[in-house]
Amino acid sequence: MVKTKNTQNTSISLWKKCEDCSEFEFIQTLARNDYLCQHCGHYYSMPALPRLKQIFQDRFEKIPLPLVDDILICSGEGTISGSQVVLMAISRLDELQIEHLDSLLITIQHAIAAKTPLIVISSGINHLKAETSLAHMAQIAIEMDSHKQMNLLQVSVLTDGDMTDSLSTIFPLGDLTLVERGPKGNQHATTLDAFVDCYAPRTEIPTLISQLLSWSSVNKLDY
Ligand SMILES: [Zn+2]
Repeated sequence: MVKTKNTQNTSISLWKKCEDCSEFEFIQTLARNDYLCQHCGHYYSMPALPRLKQIFQDRFEKIPLPLVDDILICSGEGTISGSQVVLMAISRLDELQIEHLDSLLITIQHAIAAKTPLIVISSGINHLKAETSLAHMAQIAIEMDSHKQMNLLQVSVLTDGDMTDSLSTIFPLGDLTLVERGPKGNQHATTLDAFVDCYAPRTEIPTLISQLLSWSSVNKLDY
């Protein structure tokens, strides 16, 4: 399988400047603090691998994907609240490419094969590439439906609120939809509200997912 570049910004800097308060933050400090600005609480975009580490609390196995790194998309399987689960994190994608769609498919198929719930944490997609394959889109919808038919829980967590609408063009929302909302998140009603089960700050997302999985494993029908 051809490996494709999984990052759109190759400039490496040890410091990041907050777009809200203009304070500089050491990149390792940001990573330790879930990519939250320690000065004003601003939400930096969180790379995919740290997102998996945050939710799984470091206890997971990465699922191999056809990508050279794990900055934009990363998938893993691990245990949360006693439930085996497959989780995929999609960071801010400026342009969706075929290899990204392949990675989504591989992850869904992994969850089907392992008979686990599927959690997709995504900041959405800015731009769908013209040659994005309709066949891929259809296959993703079919695989998600196959997963659902097995009575397996699907949870969507949407981040970077202003980008979330475009996600639904390629990825069906799950049984439950959580939205990560920062201190300056839009508090006004939006069209998204009708699809959202819960808004929560970043630091509470792992606990919420854990509670959902506990609830699901107690109440599940026969798989
Ligand atoms: Zn700040």
